[in-house]
Order: sequence, then structure tokens, then C-alpha cells
Amino acid sequence: MGSLNVSIVTPDGPVYEGVAQMVIARTKAGELGILPGHVPLVAPLKIDIVRLKVESGEEWVAVNGGFMEVNGEEVNILADTAEREQDIDIDRAEKAKERAEDELSRAKEQKVDEVMARLALQRAINRIHAKEHN
Ligand code: ATP
Repeated sequence: MGSLNVSIVTPDGPVYEGVAQMVIARTKAGELGILPGHVPLVAPLKIDIVRLKVESGEEWVAVNGGFMEVNGEEVNILADTAEREQDIDIDRAEKAKERAEDELSRAKEQKVDEVMARLALQRAINRIHAKEHN
């Protein structure tokens, strides 16, 4: 079986550059498993985990939206933020989750931005989820 050259890049720089046997990502149209030879595509991603099947197992990356481009053996993901599981600060994510939940609970009475709070909550839950892999 062949392999894919995967790059995950944010405006702050590359987060992952390496080879994977398969990439599993959640696009806005559903989950996609990319194997070598997949048809070329560009798809917007949800705030979710991108799973990379590598020789040693699975690598999980918490990806905050963005786009995935598949072209031949290349898989390029461009997102606002992305963290590999070992780079996630779990305390920070737990605090961000609490803050977002608190804002959402006050959204009815006060003018907090419910959409922003909901997105912050999704980012925090996604990071916690990635960190809990293994
Ligand atoms: P917070 O409220 O904790 O800043 P956030 O969701 O608002 O969370 P972002 O704006 O998405 O944070 O990210 C800002 C930068 O901090 C990005 O570089 C992102 O990769 C990094 N980052 C955010 N949360 C974490 C975390 N829990 N662990 C490691 N890096 C993080």
C-alpha cells in the first residue's frame, strides 16, 4: 500500500509534515477517509480531530475548521489553529470550556456573543478529545 504526504499548516506555521497511510477527517459533508489514489478534492472541515494512520498507530490532531486539499498523494490541511495531541495544554482547554459554558449559560440574559461562545466551546471540547486519545 502506498502512502500520503500530509501537511497541516496554520498561519503560525506548519503543525504536521509527514507520511501517513490514511487520513480521516470530518468535512462539512461528513467523514472522509483518504487513501493514496483518492480523487482530488477540496473540502471545508469541521472543528474536529484529524486522524493520521501512521506506522506506529494513530496520530490525532485537533483542527479548528479550515480546508483539506487532496491531490495525488498529497493531503494539505490549512486551518486557523491546529494542535497535535502532545502539544495540547489540557488545563487551558478545560478552562476555555468552562468559560464558554458560562458565557452560553448567560447568553439569554446578557448580550454575550452566543455564536462565538459556541465556537470556543467546540474548540475546547475538540482539544480535550484529542488529548484523551490513548
Ligand atoms: P483560549 O481561550 O484558551 O485562548 P481559544 O480557543 O480561544 O482558547 P485559539 O484562538 O483557537 O484559542 O488559539 C490561539 C492559539 O493558542 C493557537 O496557536 C492555538 O493553537 C493555541 N491554543 C489554544 N488552546 C490551546 C491549548 N489548550 N493547548 C495548546 N495550544 C492551544
